[in-house]
This record gives sequence, C-alpha cells and structure tokens, in this order.
Amino acid sequence: MGKRGVQYFTLSEIEPRVWFMLTGCDFQCRGCFRPARDGGGTLLTAEETLERAEQACRRHYGELPSKAMITGGEPALDRDFLLTLVRGLKERGFEEIVLMSNGYKVGGGEREERGDFAAELVDAGLTEAHIDIKAFSEEIHEWYTGKSNKPVFNAVRALSEAGTELLIQTVFMPGIVEADEIEKIAKFLSGVSHEIKYRINPFAPTFAFEEVTRRPTIEEIERAYELASKHHPNTIISRSCYREYPTPPAQETWVTVYPDLTFKRRTIKDQEEDRISWLTRSKSSTREEILRAVRGKGDDPEYRRRLEEATRKFFKKNF
Ligand code: SF4
Repeated sequence: MGKRGVQYFTLSEIEPRVWFMLTGCDFQCRGCFRPARDGGGTLLTAEETLERAEQACRRHYGELPSKAMITGGEPALDRDFLLTLVRGLKERGFEEIVLMSNGYKVGGGEREERGDFAAELVDAGLTEAHIDIKAFSEEIHEWYTGKSNKPVFNAVRALSEAGTELLIQTVFMPGIVEADEIEKIAKFLSGVSHEIKYRINPFAPTFAFEEVTRRPTIEEIERAYELASKHHPNTIISRSCYREYPTPPAQETWVTVYPDLTFKRRTIKDQEEDRISWLTRSKSSTREEILRAVRGKGDDPEYRRRLEEATRKFFKKNF
C-alpha cells in the first residue's frame, strides 16, 4: 500500500468530528477551489494517518469522536489506503464514516472494474458517501473535469446497491451546468433510489482556479430546485455542510491539526490566505495579480442572506 499526502485534520467545534484532508486529485475541475487538489502535505501510510488523527482527537476532545469525514483532494485515489483508513476508523469505534469523493475511482475509473470497491468500502465500515456529479452531459463533464462521467454514475449506482447513505451534489454554474442538466441528474437519481439526497450548490467564483462563470442568481437556483424536486423530492439548496441546517451556528474558526501534531485555530482569513498562495503557486502569478483577480468577488452579505432564505424554505427534515 502506498502513502498519501495528508494536508491536515480538522476538528469540529460544533460536535466532536474529525476531517481527514488528503491531497491530490484525478480531476482537473476548472472551477476547483481546493488547494489540496495539487498534492503536497505530509506523506503517510493509512496506519500512520490513523495514529496521528487519534492523537489529535484525544488531545483536543479527551477521547475519540464517533464521526469522521474523509475528504480532499480525492480520497479514493489509492484503494488500499482508503479501505485501510475506513477499516481502522471502524475498529476504533467510529460510528459515522463519511467519504467525500468525485466518484471516479469508486466507479471503476478507466478500467470499469466497478462495484467491488463500493461494496468493499461499505464492508470496511463506510456509512455514508457524498459524491459530486459535476455534469450530466459527458461533453460538459469532460470539458470541466478532464474525465468521463460514466464512472461517476457507476459509483452512485454501486454505492446505493451496497447500502450506504448517499448525498449527491451538483454546482449550478450559469451557462455551463444549469437547470436542464440538474433536472437530468435528478431524473437519474430517482431511477437509482428515492432515498438518495440531492443538494444543489451555487458556483462561487472568488477562489475558483478558473473563473469559468459568475455566481448564479437565487432565482436561477430556485428554478433548478423546482425542476429537480419534481423528479427527486429529496432535493435541497445549500451553501455549506447540510449537517448544520436548518440553523447553522456562527462558525468563524476551525481547529486545524497538521500531521506533525501542531495545532492551529484557523480563521476564514487563514483559509483565504491558503487559497491565495495556492493560486499564486499553481498559476505562476504574483500575489498582486491574484488579489486583483479576486477583488470584488468576495462573499456578498445580501446574496448570502437570500441564499440562507432559499435554503431554509426548501429544507427537508430528513436531511
Ligand atoms: S474533484 Fe474537482 S473540485 Fe474536487 S478537488 Fe478534484 S479538481 Fe478540485
């Protein structure tokens, strides 16, 4: 089994919960806003990753939490690493083990050896998966991510068959992935299982790798919601972790633990700084150029208020 880059662990202050941030990704989404995409972090085996996370949790919470979120980057790049990680969490008593993935490797990648990986993950202890369906049309998906979406659809079917809880997410991108694409994804999901949760997120151009489009209007997102929920009632609009709804607490900082077990309380400002240095490095631009490019595209409080309203309006109790 290989090693994976671990950027950091995040410890939630809303409830005991640990996030694993693994680096590297097999997609090249044009609108990606995750510095973990391009690698980096500390190379660790799955066992080493588990040990460091355990020490971080015990130091902060005094015990192990029962919930773990595995994210990145793309967590499923190395099958054995991910299976060992999930198994290790289960053995340590974690009750909720959530994978956040683009679905490509889980659905078989180029080799179409689908099915087994999803079933193995569930056997190992996975309880929930969050999979992004970036686009329904193969053409748009390939243009946006550089890869086919067939393995992603395979992953959704296989994970559903394997019996894990599923949340599918799509980003509304004006002129690229609009209501028609979202409606088709909702139809596909309703054909797989009505139990699947479907979440529509708005595109945020601020720290996107490429500013492929603008932020959608609230009306555009609501229209997509109406079309999607006709086929798949288990749909919501959202902007952040759905676990925090319907009343998300104000959360301005995160407890970040680096693999060398250094603790840092990071703020939204720190997160922005990470993104600015990522864009500066990856795009070979100066900091000033990046700042000029993102200026004026930050969070608009009025937009945020209206989005919160839309989120609450269509919130479902079972989410
Ligand atoms: S799947 Fe796309 S958005 Fe997610 S980390 Fe990879 S490149 Fe970025």
